[in-house]
Amino acid sequence: MSGNLIIVSAPSGAGKTTLVAEVLCRDAQVKPSISFTSRQPRPGEEQGVHYHFVSRAEFQAMIADGDFLEWAEVHGNLYGTSRRYVEQLRAAGFDVILAIDVQGAAQTRRLFPDAIGVFILPPSWQVLRERLDTRGANSAADLQLRLRNALDETAQCRNFDYVVINDELTTATDELAAIILAERCRLQRRSAVAEQILQTFNKPAELPTR
Ligand code: 5GP
Repeated sequence: MSGNLIIVSAPSGAGKTTLVAEVLCRDAQVKPSISFTSRQPRPGEEQGVHYHFVSRAEFQAMIADGDFLEWAEVHGNLYGTSRRYVEQLRAAGFDVILAIDVQGAAQTRRLFPDAIGVFILPPSWQVLRERLDTRGANSAADLQLRLRNALDETAQCRNFDYVVINDELTTATDELAAIILAERCRLQRRSAVAEQILQTFNKPAELPTR
């Protein structure tokens, strides 16, 4: 059976990237989708590891070719999920995490109604502001843009299946890992293997017939 599709969205500064990285370290059955983006790499970001960095023209050609499962413009840059890459990982049995914005999350849910939506909330507006102030934004204008976007983004949390509050990283990681694990144990996903096990309960020879 193909793996689950897990959408993780959050406002910028909620700690989504760190949280997802922690879960990936813990669970080898989960793989990240590596998105394409037209934005410039930040210091320390590697081509093909954090993102596939492409020009805006290359990105637009990929849209025209139908390469994206979803794509969106976020904070002035284009971001998209490779349809083929996600299909390959899921077909190989991996659960795939899409760490994407709320617009991409809505597109993905329309296409894959059984995708699992997880929204990461910061403990409060003040905490989000402090986090963005100290490390999340590139400039004063960027900070304002991210804060303004956060108002609309956080309101979208009502459309997700699960909410993880990222106050303490270990607790938030436990919660996200638990959601992924529980979804893997759903009867619907386990029915084939459960049926095989139930076959072994069929008239065991050592029990006398009633
Ligand atoms: P950043 O530039 O800080 O890495 O990402 C900015 C925003 O774009 C984040 O909310 C991130 O989740 C989102 N993002 C990253 N990749 C994708 C993608 O493939 N599709 C969409 N829709 N959003 C993405």
